[in-house]
Amino acid sequence: MELIVPDSSKSLLEGAIAPWKTPAYEHELQELLALADDYELPVDIPFRELTKAHLKIIHEGVPERDFGGLNGFFAWLERRKYKMHLRVFLSRWRSYRQCPKCRGDRLKSESLATKVGGKNIAEICQLKIREAIGFFKQIEFTEWQREVARHVIEQIHSRLHYLNTVGLGYLTLDRTLRTLSGGEAQRVSLTTALGSNLVNMLYVLDEPTVGLHPKDVRHLCKAIMSLKDRGNTVIVVDHQEEMLRNADQLIEVGPGAGDRGGKITFQGTIEEMLSQEDNLTGSYIAGTRGVVIPERRRPANRGWLKLKGASGNNLKDLTVEFPLGVLCLVTGVSGSGKSTLVQDTLYGAVCRRKRKDTTKPLPYTDIVGDGQIDDIVLVDQSPIGRSPRSNPVTYIKAFDQIRAVFADTLEARTHNYSAGHFSFNVDGGRCSVCKGVGQLEIDMQFLADVYMNCPQCGGTRYRDEILNVTYRGLNIADVLGMTVREAFSFFRGQNKVQTKLKRLIDVGLDYLQLGQPANTLSSGEAQRLKLAAYMSTHKRNRTLFILDEPSTGLHFNDILQLQDCFDTLLALGHSLIVVEHNLQLMKAADYIIDIGPGAADEGGTVIAQGTPEDLTRIEASHTGRFLRGVLNID
Ligand SMILES: [Zn+2]
Ligand SMILES: [Zn+2]
Repeated sequence: MELIVPDSSKSLLEGAIAPWKTPAYEHELQELLALADDYELPVDIPFRELTKAHLKIIHEGVPERDFGGLNGFFAWLERRKYKMHLRVFLSRWRSYRQCPKCRGDRLKSESLATKVGGKNIAEICQLKIREAIGFFKQIEFTEWQREVARHVIEQIHSRLHYLNTVGLGYLTLDRTLRTLSGGEAQRVSLTTALGSNLVNMLYVLDEPTVGLHPKDVRHLCKAIMSLKDRGNTVIVVDHQEEMLRNADQLIEVGPGAGDRGGKITFQGTIEEMLSQEDNLTGSYIAGTRGVVIPERRRPANRGWLKLKGASGNNLKDLTVEFPLGVLCLVTGVSGSGKSTLVQDTLYGAVCRRKRKDTTKPLPYTDIVGDGQIDDIVLVDQSPIGRSPRSNPVTYIKAFDQIRAVFADTLEARTHNYSAGHFSFNVDGGRCSVCKGVGQLEIDMQFLADVYMNCPQCGGTRYRDEILNVTYRGLNIADVLGMTVREAFSFFRGQNKVQTKLKRLIDVGLDYLQLGQPANTLSSGEAQRLKLAAYMSTHKRNRTLFILDEPSTGLHFNDILQLQDCFDTLLALGHSLIVVEHNLQLMKAADYIIDIGPGAADEGGTVIAQGTPEDLTRIEASHTGRFLRGVLNID
């Protein structure tokens, strides 16, 4: 009813009934208003003050006056919902609520009367997977019952056991799939593979550890090993140390990203990898490279942001203080409520204060300390553009200045070339065959599209006369082929260009070519490019950056660069709150807030907070226990 009458302080005349305010169904309201007098229905008092008798007229209508009321109206729509626009219209006024007859149990009372071990099927479905395992173990059967149920019980045991093994024991049996997180859903589908008795199968898993706490990674590794032990082959694409250490055979692809990758750089066992001195992955696992434990952590004394009374999803009326100006990590096992706290509540709450558009934050009572920051930015791993036209310099808007430099040369001025002639996105100076892309896309019908260099410009993107314009001996296409670092020294004296390029160097992207198409960047590179772009356009702001699992899909090497990038942001006076499981980043954190102790109902509270060293002393914290290992504390 809240959907149909969103504002009950309005009267019928003022349009309290929302669906009847639409031009198409206004006539329903007119009919109601026309008969209101005869039936003593007040049309000018707030809707909430109408009596039961009044509401009856509105809902059930007046048959003798041929008025169907709301019930008749929705029944009429229901009959015509084969029409797309009516289906859409209808869905606007609907919301899910519990069925009044069975109260959410889904079954008739006859079916619910059947009980096993004292519980009916609805009650069993309300158990958590972990509890259900215990429940089925303790049921006592008669001789005959045992005979009948043997196979079924075996199946139930093995399936529940698999769900528990992949770390999902906290889910209730009746949780709907659409309410699961991405990682949870992937692990549910993995259990169907674990539950089958097929052999000689090839399983290919793409980063199954994404979003998993180290504790859960261990369980998952065991589950995957058991697939192998039953005579299957498993190929896993992953970066997690635990996973690598468990593998029988490692294949390393590299050495770099994009153009600098694509080769098999190593194949063999973990021992062989560790014994190779120059192997990049191996040296991280052996600990000779990687995040070192900082000698001094930044003290949390640069102000605090205090979120009070957060109670969305499983959060238990939390009041949390986030330190500003330091690297603050929010950790916890999957499903503990980290994202609910940071993205769904804190981010929205600060956006509201800063008058930024965003989805409505989950419930909280107050936020204090937001005056210490000017802006808040949520950085995710979404791709920055599928078009080969976008590249690092266009993305951070450095290309405008580079084009201005070329337009200012004597050669350009004598031919009247403007900065626009040096753009590959508008007509003028760009190659007319490939329209400035430098490549032609060839449709291969049933195969993936193939790109080939443009025969007209040879991949340079520009017309010959534009390429004749040079600055310090090089033309615009040569410049797009430079790395960021080369370009930085090439444009010495051009302060505007250098300032922008400096941002790319700050975030560790100095090795990228200026013209490298954005769609060939790795997810880690794209993420750092976003940070650089933000910094180059908002210079003096004190900004709070919120990052959601930025290490996802990153190799050890990328994580090191991400950490450098964080250091730069903090040195510029910004703040960082990062939701993360990665032990390498935890090691580098100044402050950690650990949410837990478990997932779902067993989570939603702050278990521990402080420096990584503080956390190792807290028994209840799973995160603290794993930190003891990486910080070399017994
Ligand atoms: Zn029902
Ligand atoms: Zn061309």
